[in-house]
Amino acid sequence: MPDTSFLAWPFFEERHRDLAAAIETWCRLHLPVDHGDVDAACRGLVAALGRDGWLAHSAADPEAGGAPDVRALCLMRETLARHDGLADFAFAVQGLGAGAISLFGTPAQRQCLKRTRAGAAIAAFALSEARSGSDVASIAMTAARDGGDYLLNGEKTWISNGSIADLYVVFARTGEAPGAKGISAFVVPADVQGLSVVERIEVVAPHPLARIRFEDARVPAAAMIGKPGEGFRIAMATLDVFRTTVGAAALGFARRALDEAIGRARERRLFGGTLSDLQMVQASIAEMALDVDAAALLVYRAAWAKDMWAKDIGAARVTREAAMAKLFATEHAQHVIDKAVQIHGGDGVRRGHIVESLYREIRALRIYEGASEVQKVVIARQALAGG
Ligand SMILES: Cc1cc2nc3c(=O)[nH]c(=O)nc-3n(C[C@H](O)[C@H](O)[C@H](O)COP(=O)(O)OP(=O)(O)OC[C@H]3O[C@@H](n4cnc5c(N)ncnc54)[C@H](O)[C@@H]3O)c2cc1C
Repeated sequence: MPDTSFLAWPFFEERHRDLAAAIETWCRLHLPVDHGDVDAACRGLVAALGRDGWLAHSAADPEAGGAPDVRALCLMRETLARHDGLADFAFAVQGLGAGAISLFGTPAQRQCLKRTRAGAAIAAFALSEARSGSDVASIAMTAARDGGDYLLNGEKTWISNGSIADLYVVFARTGEAPGAKGISAFVVPADVQGLSVVERIEVVAPHPLARIRFEDARVPAAAMIGKPGEGFRIAMATLDVFRTTVGAAALGFARRALDEAIGRARERRLFGGTLSDLQMVQASIAEMALDVDAAALLVYRAAWAKDMWAKDIGAARVTREAAMAKLFATEHAQHVIDKAVQIHGGDGVRRGHIVESLYREIRALRIYEGASEVQKVVIARQALAGG
């Protein structure tokens, strides 16, 4: 049984506690799903999460726009991740893909959020390129004005939901200025002529992931999100919302690993007692529990700060909090899961065992949406500036 005492913390309102209980019940009924065909599994998960209303938490109400409630996003991700990493992925990418449209889209652009929030359309966020991952400002893909349209040319890689998405938010160079100030964002339907999937990327924890190519893909000027040259700011603002939620997913994986380790330590008999009688195992459990609670404090502080900042009450700063939450929760989830594998002995590395899958699931979270080193740069910059 997972620890739910954190729900009494002052970061939450009654509606968050209700949400946590309701999504827990849903997860117990519906997860995990079969991952044999990840594309089919993700399509099914998006449809089910939409049908039962959970994707309404992935993006703000289209009529209102703005940021979704980050505490709700985090509770959703933590709970889904604790039950099934692919379910968390399906929920999270739907939100990330819709994020820029929700935050900066026109009322007309925001209409597509009705479909993403209902699970009727799958979204993706296409920023990274082969030569521009961490160095986002150096992206090379272009969007050239052609009458009332833009022509997109170039490649994006590591695109989650690439190949199953119905719409992509794509960042391309429009050339208003060199570097970060010359990038714009576009909503691009997956069936636009000139867009193709050129590579499926296999990773340690399989998800739909692809490299996609744009060859004279034509979109109307009305597909631009925000103004020309605002793409970098839009991408960073979107990541500012979702970075904390990556920490929440890591927290869900860590909590599951801790629960599995405790269960194993209590049951496993050796040397005339149980694993849990051994003090070195107790020390591991103590360190895991400490990491989980510290991560939860940082994640939910950041989520609370973001929600209060969006309402202009109670929080002066969020970027440092979000970076700390992602950095600590992902790095320490890796330690927690490694300890859980160790406590399980040989079974910990047996293919298909839950802690073996957690061991694979956690790794990419320390790399995407800003690698751990990038989070350290962000934290240090603010600390040194006295912020
Ligand atoms: C599973 C997965 C899903 C992804 N999904 C998406 C997606 O949906 N959309 C999308 O646009 N992208 C996505 N990405 C791409 C992801 O955001 C990039 O992989 C990430 O930004 C790192 O870029 P890179 O792989 O090019 O590594 P590089 O930029 O080459 O960095 C390599 C390493 O260098 C180190 N490093 C980087 N910067 C610094 C620094 N300033 N100081 C010190 N060290 C540093 C870090 O250790 C980093 O891991 C995904 C990636 C993965 C693995």
